[in-house]
Amino acid sequence: MSALHHDTNATVPGHNPDSTHFHCLIIGSGPAGYTAAIYAARAGLNPVMYTGMQPGGQLMITNDVENFPGYPNGINGPAMMADLQAQAERFGTDVRNGMVTKVDFSGWPHKIWVDEKKQFTADAVIISTGASAKWLGLPSEQRLNGLGVSACAVCDGFFYRNQKVIVVGGGDTAAEEASYLANICEHVTVLVRGDKMRASLFMQKRLKNLPNVTILWNTETVEVLGDEGVSGVRVRNRITSEETDLEATGFFVAIGHKPNTEVFADYIPLNEAGYIDTIKGSTYTNVPGVFACGDAQDMVYRQAVTAAGTGCMAALDAERWLTVKLTEVAELAETAATA
Ligand code: NDP
Repeated sequence: MSALHHDTNATVPGHNPDSTHFHCLIIGSGPAGYTAAIYAARAGLNPVMYTGMQPGGQLMITNDVENFPGYPNGINGPAMMADLQAQAERFGTDVRNGMVTKVDFSGWPHKIWVDEKKQFTADAVIISTGASAKWLGLPSEQRLNGLGVSACAVCDGFFYRNQKVIVVGGGDTAAEEASYLANICEHVTVLVRGDKMRASLFMQKRLKNLPNVTILWNTETVEVLGDEGVSGVRVRNRITSEETDLEATGFFVAIGHKPNTEVFADYIPLNEAGYIDTIKGSTYTNVPGVFACGDAQDMVYRQAVTAAGTGCMAALDAERWLTVKLTEVAELAETAATA
């Protein structure tokens, strides 16, 4: 660790609850945020994390995570997030409940408002606000969430091995989820609300060629059926209004994700789907000292392990950037003092 770091930490009251300035602020508390926190804390950046509206992120609504390396018997999503939080805190991350509601990245240090009232400044900001799956908004979908209703085939598909499942959606996510499930499940029914899919032609063709996939066009979901778990789905044909009960044990909602990035939109370029554009091969954004990791900047992979990987990258990028930036600041101060 450089001497500069020791100087920096001595002057940055990162964990003083009354401080309004942070050396490193992490926004969001999924696998990306916690991994960034572990690395930032171990690098002496005194990170403060604001958890956001759903502390722990999307994994808090995932029952069993079986594809995160290192858990041979799988792990419950909330338990994994509790472990990640404990690991981040063990190295000194200050984890706080609160929602970042406004930022001003026009100058430096960066300005951040929490819960619309408290204002802070930060030398470096790591954005790990994630993305939220879109849901249909049906009460039955909410009641059976985690009990057969899922928004992630890669996470939960395995539990429906050799069973009948239903996927709703007509975009690339739905096509990809349905293709993935077709490898595992006995049968996959895809519910498309219109008469065409929005997915790429290649994905559509692949889907249509799978022998155990049926696409129902002009079909909407009326209700997810079941008491303790999903037993089927009531659907309605939008042209004939005819209702049918389809048998299924899994119901996968794949109607898109919404990255939680709106609050940054005035300062950081977002792509057409709202994801943060980072500089290729890094977590740098266009704003010096602001880094983005996890699902907020990843519309392709969106896995806990890839989020954790980019969280690590963000902390390393932030640490290196701060070292250079604070050296510049110190040199300028020295020049001014001797002038
Ligand atoms: P999209 O917005 O592209 O598609 C959403 C789909 O869900 C549409 O078919 C839409 O229907 C349908 N839908 C929306 N709301 C409802 C509802 N309430 N009930 C029923 N159906 C509904 O989202 P995706 O997540 O599929 O894709 C987002 C972006 O990510 C796209 O640009 C896509 O290309 C990209 N992507 C790329 C991948 C890759 O490159 N491997 C993988 C996954 C996504 P309608 O068409 O009628 O509006």
